[in-house]
Amino acid sequence: MGNLELRAFEIEFNRPITKRERSMVNIVGKVFLGNFIRPGWSGEIDFYLFMCDNHGLVADYPHFHSQILRCPLCQDRINKDPEPTICQEELDNLKKELRDMEQK
Ligand SMILES: [Zn+2]
Repeated sequence: MGNLELRAFEIEFNRPITKRERSMVNIVGKVFLGNFIRPGWSGEIDFYLFMCDNHGLVADYPHFHSQILRCPLCQDRINKDPEPTICQEELDNLKKELRDMEQK
């Protein structure tokens, strides 16, 4: 599946996106790609890989203070927590299990 927008990102920042990162998006919602800077920006900004319902995988950076990621093509708003919620839940469950085991 070719995505010109994502390919443009790879070329602009010389940052190839791996197969693993592509599949990670399905599990954790978004994947951190690194800090990049564009001409005119005052500093580097965190970029994330995520899924747009209309365009598939795209890369963007959080806008405003609410960490909103937007598809560069259709501006669909995707608001995700910085940390993967699935893993946090699993972590909490594991901690609880460990606590229970210690008490026995
Ligand atoms: Zn889109």
